Amino acid sequence: MKDKYGREIDYLRISLTDNCNLRCIYCMEEKDNNFLKNEDKLTNDEICKIVCESAKLGIKKVRFTGGEPLVRKDILELMQRINNIPSIKEIYLTTNGILLEENLEIFSKSGLKGVNISLDSLNEENFKKLTRLGDLKKVLSAIDKCISLGIKVKLNTVIIKGINDKEIIDFVNLTLKNPIDVRFIELMPIGVGSKYKGINNEDIIETIKNNYKKFEEVKKNKSGGPATYIKLNGAKGKIGFISAISNCFCEECNRIRLTPEGFLKQCLHFNYGIDLKKLIRCGVSDKDLSLAIHNSIFDKPEKHLFMQKSKDKELKFMNQIGG
Ligand code: SAM
Ligand code: SF4
Repeated sequence: MKDKYGREIDYLRISLTDNCNLRCIYCMEEKDNNFLKNEDKLTNDEICKIVCESAKLGIKKVRFTGGEPLVRKDILELMQRINNIPSIKEIYLTTNGILLEENLEIFSKSGLKGVNISLDSLNEENFKKLTRLGDLKKVLSAIDKCISLGIKVKLNTVIIKGINDKEIIDFVNLTLKNPIDVRFIELMPIGVGSKYKGINNEDIIETIKNNYKKFEEVKKNKSGGPATYIKLNGAKGKIGFISAISNCFCEECNRIRLTPEGFLKQCLHFNYGIDLKKLIRCGVSDKDLSLAIHNSIFDKPEKHLFMQKSKDKELKFMNQIGG
């Protein structure tokens, strides 16, 4: 369905948990994260009910995210159930990749079309510094397995001044020999992210231009999402830029978000949403649930206001909202 600004909303991002097996420095505190209790999170039955009603309103694509979606033990059952909803055409996953390799074959048989793997360093020491807990080898090995199984991989990389800004070209070089896209995501001033200074994508492009003279712009297709892409000459993968801060893409936004505790959020920036869990646990009818989702989609804000003072600004951390 279309929102009041005429945007076709067909993409639901579902955050399955706020918990995570890593503690990336710009996403979470090291300790005292106060994760949700299991009973406060949506169950698989509740998520499926919301996806079914959303699908009737035109949602075709679903992505599981978090926190780390793979720490949720019942994710496979959920994927299989959502894969059986006829109008859901595509299921994707955004993950840190640590627990991915062991599950890939069964996910691939259960409808998983592609994975976005967040990876901010190719250097073991730096990776540990950034994630506090991660083992880089597990992520690299999951990437290799995705490639061997033919699962589309996009790497999401956040570049932070003084931490991994020397690795830009190492990431770019990955696209030369591997059929993976590397996407640079600008750091957003959300939660602990506000403590760090990101590098904006224009500066990253400049760094790439200084190292590579020959590359081509890649034309955007309609369902291509918010990234713009370039490709190095002869490379197997593309280099993408998601510039939420320096180049707001809200005009083309096609997504809504479901938080682990059941809030349907219209936009990452704002702190409001409708409490679908409360409605469901109070016994709402399918018709009224559908109406609530419909009204929320219709009223999606025109754009984020990250760079302005706003009383409605989201104060939660990225792992709590679902990145
Ligand atoms: N744990 C999974 C992962 O890391 O892919 C999924 C959730 S994580 C919150 C999703 C994405 O949000 C990651 O790519 C991460 O780099 C990004 N992220 C977290 N905090 C951010 C921030 N302040 N600004 C921009 N991206 C952020
Ligand atoms: Fe966990 Fe993803 Fe946040 Fe890193 S970015 S702490 S992996 S939720």
